[in-house]
Amino acid sequence: MTSKLKLLLACTAAMTALPASAQTPAAAANGLEIAKKMIAFRSVRGPGNQTPQLAAYLKATLVAGGFAADDVTITPVDDTAYLIATWKGSDPALKPIVVSGHIDVVEAKPADWQRDPFTAVVENGYLYGRGATDMKLDAALAIATLLDMKKAGYKPKRGIVLALSGDEETVMKTSSLIAEKLKASEMALNIDGGGGLYAENGKPEYFTIGAAEKTYADFQMEVTNPGGHSSAPRKVNAINELSAALVKIGGYRFTPQLSPITKGYFEGVAPRQTPELGAAMRAFVADPTDQKAIETLAANTGYVGQIGTTCVTTMVSGGHALNALPQRATANINCRIFPGVKPATVMAELAKVAADPGVKFSDVTEGSNPTDASPLRADLTGAVKAAMGKIRPGVPIFPSMSAGASDSMWYRSVGVPSYGVSPIYIKQSDDFSHGLNERTPIDNIPLAITYYRSLLTDLTK
Ligand SMILES: [Zn+2]
Repeated sequence: MTSKLKLLLACTAAMTALPASAQTPAAAANGLEIAKKMIAFRSVRGPGNQTPQLAAYLKATLVAGGFAADDVTITPVDDTAYLIATWKGSDPALKPIVVSGHIDVVEAKPADWQRDPFTAVVENGYLYGRGATDMKLDAALAIATLLDMKKAGYKPKRGIVLALSGDEETVMKTSSLIAEKLKASEMALNIDGGGGLYAENGKPEYFTIGAAEKTYADFQMEVTNPGGHSSAPRKVNAINELSAALVKIGGYRFTPQLSPITKGYFEGVAPRQTPELGAAMRAFVADPTDQKAIETLAANTGYVGQIGTTCVTTMVSGGHALNALPQRATANINCRIFPGVKPATVMAELAKVAADPGVKFSDVTEGSNPTDASPLRADLTGAVKAAMGKIRPGVPIFPSMSAGASDSMWYRSVGVPSYGVSPIYIKQSDDFSHGLNERTPIDNIPLAITYYRSLLTDLTK
């Protein structure tokens, strides 16, 4: 009951705020319907992957809604597929904008869930199901908006390309192929990033535009040794030697860094923290060498990743028999590198900290690409602020840097700036992406339609 009322109120609010959106309720209903159907496909990597079937369903939906069949392509890749739908602009001189997302999801074991992860359920004001948050609902709402804009006769001057990857959650092969294919684009709007925060009382707190991601890297440390009988120890032991180096790395902190994006982020979130944390953020923004501020932020797991590169030991292995001197010991150091810093530089710094030529370092990273931050372009931030202003007037908007990687990485690596701009608001305590009982509040749905229509129109009219 409460949830229905909430949805109704949200619809009304959107309609009064934007008279031109008379079709919002129909598009919102369509968006929810598409999302529910999408969730029913088990688009998980491995045997039985239904991503190709999901892509086929979306193509049929887009074509039924006015896209020419030739303008929607599905490209199979290994056990998955990606979809690209093109809405040509009237001015061929303008480079298109990409609406980027993914249609695969993280594995979900039905036995562990309260409800079947692949049966969408709307209950208590939430859409439940694998992909409800990450990110089938987002994709469905963008699609419903595009179809609504087509229906209303909108003619974009700049082309719009909807690109949905099929393995973003795993190997990102389709993500890299799509970015390569679309490298002549003006920018990518990543609807799997950015987004809004609801306070625990349900009030919208703030909205962030994702403009940067840290670079993921894995470095292997290896010590080898001739080994021998454990009854005749030598002075040098591969496991001991590696351990000594790991202890040094464990105690090391990379020089903290501040970028225009993290500066904007800290300024935005500082007023919402405890006085101590807020003061540390302000002090860090004023002086990123402020030791007291650094200590406070570094001790907070939510913010330690925002103040610079971090590296941690994630795996170790060594030795080959209980009664033999180890011939080999290895460790994996996982790093999240501040945008603009090269992985090779970080690895060299780690080797310097280990200060032992017997410890060999190698970059064993797979499926990652170092990228710089995307510039905070006025056209993009202006369009996002205008769109957000229509649905959540007065909510603070600022940039953010993600500590994880998304499809944005692939666009940035081919020179296309990419921005996380999902309009979905969620409470911290409701965020179960990749986890159990994933859910998203459905009061977002009509607002998201209004937002997408405003954003896409502004950037392509
Ligand atoms: Zn995602």
